[in-house]
Amino acid sequence: MPEKNIFKRIIDREIEAEILFEDDRCLVFRDIMPQAPVHLLVIPKKEIPSSNEIAEEDAELIGHLFLTIRRIAEEQGVAESGYRVVLNCGPDATQTVRHLHFHLIGGRSMSWPPG
Ligand code: 5GP
Repeated sequence: MPEKNIFKRIIDREIEAEILFEDDRCLVFRDIMPQAPVHLLVIPKKEIPSSNEIAEEDAELIGHLFLTIRRIAEEQGVAESGYRVVLNCGPDATQTVRHLHFHLIGGRSMSWPPG
């Protein structure tokens, strides 16, 4: 059996994380190495390795993740000040965990373009 990735282990409560929100389809928890005052990871419970593997049938799930992002951004107080949603896909984008995730980053001003 293939080894579980770290986010699947967080979903299954095999390792600890500071979880802010959970429902039947997704989980939101704090990034272990925060890059800003607010740095959360929004992940589907479904095991999708990256955006390259998103299927037509996942369209509603992806919409649900974004509605969750919007709501959590409000709760975290960054909806008005602004925030960034980052999805890293593949080596050039420095994706390190092969489980689809959106970074929700806010609470400070940011620059563009990203490094
Ligand atoms: P990626 O580079 O794949 O887009 O981002 C993976 C993110 O997961 C990184 O920001 C990293 O800090 C975070 N991360 C890696 N391992 C853990 C962990 O065990 N717990 C938590 N909460 N975050 C993790």
